[in-house]
Amino acid sequence: MASHPSERSAALRREPALKKKIPGRIWRHPSKPSLKVPYSTAAAMALMQMGVRDYTTIAGAVALSVDQIRRIDMAEERPIRQLGLVGIPHGVYFKLHETIRCPKCNALVKIAPCVACDSVADVPLAECHDAG
Ligand SMILES: [Zn+2]
Repeated sequence: MASHPSERSAALRREPALKKKIPGRIWRHPSKPSLKVPYSTAAAMALMQMGVRDYTTIAGAVALSVDQIRRIDMAEERPIRQLGLVGIPHGVYFKLHETIRCPKCNALVKIAPCVACDSVADVPLAECHDAG
């Protein structure tokens, strides 16, 4: 199976005109550098982790198609499965394409996960009192 260099370069030259895709940003898991998924995929998973179950909502929020969200949810691809197992680490936020409503506190959020819910979970109740 020898591929002719001339054919390859011809294909490369043709490609940019054919598929005009937005360059996908890649997100890397901070503690697992080998685990990489598209930024939008990771953002969709962050939304699922915060309890958003509606594919249409997730699709709008991360600018993917409903079909792509379904595929992410089914975790057919290996990196997505891996990320599903380890989860989006705490303290990592994703900028959303569209504002969505947090299913827990009902606030409108433009980053995932919801900062309000996140900080509530973060701070032990005792520390909420002023030490003055
Ligand atoms: Zn919230």
